[in-house]
Amino acid sequence: MKKPVAKKTNSDDMCIACGDEPGGLNLWRPKKEWELKGWLCEPCFDEWEKSDNELKKNCIVCNAKLGFMPRRAKKVWNLKGYLCKNCWNLQDSKT
Ligand SMILES: [Zn+2]
Ligand SMILES: [Zn+2]
Repeated sequence: MKKPVAKKTNSDDMCIACGDEPGGLNLWRPKKEWELKGWLCEPCFDEWEKSDNELKKNCIVCNAKLGFMPRRAKKVWNLKGYLCKNCWNLQDSKT
């Protein structure tokens, strides 16, 4: 029995955050540092950027204010966000 064609996942026309399909021209490539595969629609891109900017303000470990060059947590640490120099070095020495 033939089923209707399943919705493509990983489509180039789909926003990976909300699943919207506004069409390729209305999708934005996420910033490299977000480590996302795929595309974002404009509202999701804005939202992502906003929360990323929030994350950049403080160290996720000790909550210290971060400067101009926040260090992004490494993937292997299972932390999402940015760390101050001290916490980053501490984490780095543990792994
Ligand atoms: Zn979206
Ligand atoms: Zn810290």
